[in-house]
Amino acid sequence: MSTNSEHRMAKRSYVRVVVDRAIRRELDYSVPESLAERVGVGSRVRVPFRDKSALATVVAVPEQSEAKGIRPIEAVIGEAPILSEQLLELARWISIYYCCPIETVMRSMLPQVIRRAEVGWKKQLFVQPSRNIEAEEIEKLRKRAPRQAELLEAIAKLEKPIRAAELLRQTSLDNQTLRALVKRGLAELREEAVIRDPHGDDQFIATSNLVLNEEQTHALNEITQALDSPENARPILLHGVTGSGKTEIYLQGIRAALDRGRTAIVLVPEISLTPQTVERFKGRFAEAQDTVAVLHSHLSEGERHDEWHKIHSGRARIVIGARSAIFAPLKNLGLIVVDEEHETTYKQEEAPRYHARDIAIVRAKIEKCVVVPGSATPSLESHHNAAIGKYRLVTLTQRVDQKQMPLMRIIDLRQERRKEKKAAILSEKLSQAIADRLEKREQTILFLNRRGFSTSLLCSNCGEARNCPNCSVALTFHRHPAVDGRLSCHLCGHTAAVPKKCPACGQDALIYYGFGTEKVESTVAQIFPKAVVRRMDADSMTRKEAYRETLRNFRTGKIDILVGTQMIAKGLHFPNVTLVGIINADLALHLPDFRAGERTFQLLTQVAGRAGRGETPGEVFVQTYTPFSPSIQFARHHDFAGYFQQELEFRERCDFPPFKHAILITVRSAHEGRAKLSAETLKRRLREALTYSTEAPKPEAYSAAPTRRKPLGLRSLAAAAKAGPEEFILGDATPAPLEKLQGQFRFHILIRGEAIMRLSRLVRETLDKLPFPEDVTVTVDVDPYQLL
Ligand code: ADP
Ligand code: ZN
Repeated sequence: MSTNSEHRMAKRSYVRVVVDRAIRRELDYSVPESLAERVGVGSRVRVPFRDKSALATVVAVPEQSEAKGIRPIEAVIGEAPILSEQLLELARWISIYYCCPIETVMRSMLPQVIRRAEVGWKKQLFVQPSRNIEAEEIEKLRKRAPRQAELLEAIAKLEKPIRAAELLRQTSLDNQTLRALVKRGLAELREEAVIRDPHGDDQFIATSNLVLNEEQTHALNEITQALDSPENARPILLHGVTGSGKTEIYLQGIRAALDRGRTAIVLVPEISLTPQTVERFKGRFAEAQDTVAVLHSHLSEGERHDEWHKIHSGRARIVIGARSAIFAPLKNLGLIVVDEEHETTYKQEEAPRYHARDIAIVRAKIEKCVVVPGSATPSLESHHNAAIGKYRLVTLTQRVDQKQMPLMRIIDLRQERRKEKKAAILSEKLSQAIADRLEKREQTILFLNRRGFSTSLLCSNCGEARNCPNCSVALTFHRHPAVDGRLSCHLCGHTAAVPKKCPACGQDALIYYGFGTEKVESTVAQIFPKAVVRRMDADSMTRKEAYRETLRNFRTGKIDILVGTQMIAKGLHFPNVTLVGIINADLALHLPDFRAGERTFQLLTQVAGRAGRGETPGEVFVQTYTPFSPSIQFARHHDFAGYFQQELEFRERCDFPPFKHAILITVRSAHEGRAKLSAETLKRRLREALTYSTEAPKPEAYSAAPTRRKPLGLRSLAAAAKAGPEEFILGDATPAPLEKLQGQFRFHILIRGEAIMRLSRLVRETLDKLPFPEDVTVTVDVDPYQLL
């Protein structure tokens, strides 16, 4: 008896799990013998939790458990563990760095269909004969049941199983007839999983490697060398002007990774994940249909399930996708490419507020693989990391076709205004340039990062603007479909009718003020009545197919002038576009955001990259009220180095990234006073926590974002010499620039410092100790990009 129980004791095992609930704790459960074989680290399980069941992820398999009243798990979900040890390690890192519970991290790592395991494979019925069918048998059947005989005849002829639905369609017979044959034991039905391939119907033309030029060859060599000794490889920052052949290098780099038996992830901003981009990758790796998996936000749940399993099972070896594709469950990862690494859409604006490029750097370190962030306008952070030797820098200075960079002309809107006496949408020079292109049958892109027709409705008598009742912004007037002839809030979606008279003073003195893409479209159409003008922004592209359709029509020359928001600024190749007009370059510049200058420089450079990709050199017109601002001047001269230097000096002077990390805490509530009080209390507690934290800084295991190695300038030397509380800069609790959003009053606290892991921990601990009123919400954003 004792041996028996000992035996059972020895086999008894435990799992430590993270339940899909925000409880910030790991819990232990026991594993019934019947399930022991099937669980491991990374498995999904169902466990009893409080008085219900909950889904959970196994994060460890401890031999002992100290926990009291331990209960057994109820079930194991799926066949294999869905998270590798490396991905679990990554999840832990994210949870600490971004100040966010691990269960929230896992929500981002695992698509809902996988976590819940509710959607399965799409199953279809296949038919085949159950045995050899003789001709006589069919004839005999024909007398009694002619339709069954007809179907049996077709089935007998099958060379391989066929989908039942397909067979019935071909023979025009029904399901009942088929069932009758099955009942007679003449035909057999089998369920098989079929893959929902969103690109299954597309034909991909196979392409092969291009012969690389000298700069490209050098860049590829860096990657292959790193692939050969990934343990000590540094991230490779590929800085190449638009059209310098970066994508070709990615393609050949991936090929090199596959040749070494490894896999690859390519991250692209969601907006650049166009059919064109997918085609380039699917085309190059066309040898096996399943090699490339694509992950993006428009997949159906079923498609997402299938793509995910295609990756998890090892059939797909390349994953191309937007932000969350960085969590793709590839094994044996060899290379991660982050295209357009400067793109702010890599930053997730809900918890976990991670930046996919930084996660890529960390995952590469954990998985010992090569990571290549690439861009025509690298972020200041990445370029700085290259400058201090944390990254390797590889530059491509030439366009592949040796074409000239487009000519940038700056148009001073102040002078235009003096001439015209009112704000012009199109300056005379830009207008003429468009006319010239129309005559030559070349195409134009006009860019304005603001939707709608008029950006506000003002009263010229009392000065009141129509503001959103929920947010502290003016309502935008739209003339076209989505909110036809109404005012709408771009932040919360609130809409309102246009009043006849000013509701504040009762006067009939309302005027429309400011303009968006709709107005640009209609103005251009008025000036050039013969031209085909189309608009591309979030309002005009609500139909799923509209985007593809407009791009196709633009490519084939059916559209002369394309007006749009940032949707058209990225990664599209249009050889016949020889003119790009930036309607107002100042929009981004005057935001209360330390990255405003950087964004403007990037935007101008990227948009300019759209011009002159074909035979004719391109021209870019930049309309601005601040023609001498550095971002505009450096962009004009395609002077990245000059821009980088001056921007870096500014950041260092002001203690902003990349010299200091920032954490932005937002406290919000529908009740203004409570939000304010909570923010002020939190600030005081943070002050105490930062002052009395005497613990020596912990080493940073994996720091994605820069830490300074080489001091730059006197000021940073002085800062480095300082120790203790002064190492953190704690700002006051202040109303956010966007004071009210969706009915909530918002207050900000900004903290800056170098030791980010320590800072994150202090913030977390302080928050955990502070009880906030129920209607107050606090969010923590580490390395924030959204400062409004
Ligand atoms: P980027 O990604 O830097 O903007 P791409 O990789 O898209 O540049 O290259 C721009 C164009 O040049 C593409 O049409 C590409 O096929 C072509 N190209 C790239 N490398 C070569 C090469 N070595 N020889 C010829 N054409 C090339
Ligand atoms: Zn609003």
